[in-house]
Amino acid sequence: MHEFSIAMSIIEIAEKEAKAVNSKYISALDLDVGTMAGIEYYALDTALEMAVKDTMMENAKIKVNKIQAKALCSDCKTEFEISCITDSCPKCNGLFHEILSGKELKIRSIVVEDAV
Ligand SMILES: [Zn+2]
Repeated sequence: MHEFSIAMSIIEIAEKEAKAVNSKYISALDLDVGTMAGIEYYALDTALEMAVKDTMMENAKIKVNKIQAKALCSDCKTEFEISCITDSCPKCNGLFHEILSGKELKIRSIVVEDAV
């Protein structure tokens, strides 16, 4: 499951951040995940739930912010919500567009417990 390895690397990054400030526990983590990042939200939730066991994130509150993918039509400059790369512009049916958002997969913020 590809979401599991993603969950593992998220935890790895978060733990590194926490260690950098001498903290032992991560209490909250906010993630930005675009609708076109190639990730199943449900699978990611499940993967995170399993992957946090015995890590610094075991009791962390994880929030996944779903970022709706948006594109800008190259022809008529309409901004529209997109669900697939081949979607055409709803206004002019143009097929060329620039993806504005929706491919993100990043940690927005990490909250760590005070250093002990
Ligand atoms: Zn258009």
